[in-house]
Amino acid sequence: MSELTELYKEVRVCQKCILSQGRANAVPGEGPEDADILFIGEGPGFHEDRQGRPFVGAAGNYLNELLEKIDLKREEVYITNVIKCRPPGNRDPQPEEIEACRPYLDRQITLIHPRLIITLGRYSMQRYFPGASISRIHGQPKRVGNVIYYPMFHPAAALHQPRWRSLLEEDMGKIPHLLAKLDELEEQEPEHPSTQAQQLSLF
Ligand code: SF4
Repeated sequence: MSELTELYKEVRVCQKCILSQGRANAVPGEGPEDADILFIGEGPGFHEDRQGRPFVGAAGNYLNELLEKIDLKREEVYITNVIKCRPPGNRDPQPEEIEACRPYLDRQITLIHPRLIITLGRYSMQRYFPGASISRIHGQPKRVGNVIYYPMFHPAAALHQPRWRSLLEEDMGKIPHLLAKLDELEEQEPEHPSTQAQQLSLF
């Protein structure tokens, strides 16, 4: 059994926060164990909770459409959330719930070792861009070591806001350029030594 499968088993029976009490299923995440691209959303909604899979409702269908437009298949990317259990009524996750769930996400990132981490919405953005406003920094990648972090709007929010929708689609369209940039950077400097955040310009 892989370490990631072991982690899924732990998540499915986890009781480290109050969200364990109302869930039908915990939703650890899914995708290749060696994915280059990791998407981090907020938390499971109704359909995700029922099926135990991330991004399977309307927002998930929309995300799949966006991926197809840039020639990426959903099966090629890893998708997870900041919290693995559905908050009652889809309310916002509380700080103590995010904190309780954090070690699972930390372990997923260590095990998957993605080159590009894409945050969807403000809760996952806060992990890498603390204190930032998503309206100001969406679509602006930063590089730390050999990983690029890229903040985008959450597809569920964008579905209800035409303005955010067009911005999300625009940001999604930059992902192929980001991957090309990563290849270029890794070729120039295979082991980027700096742990200082570095803003990236794509064009
Ligand atoms: S949200 Fe995370 S910490 Fe809370 S019960 Fe679910 S898996 Fe455990």
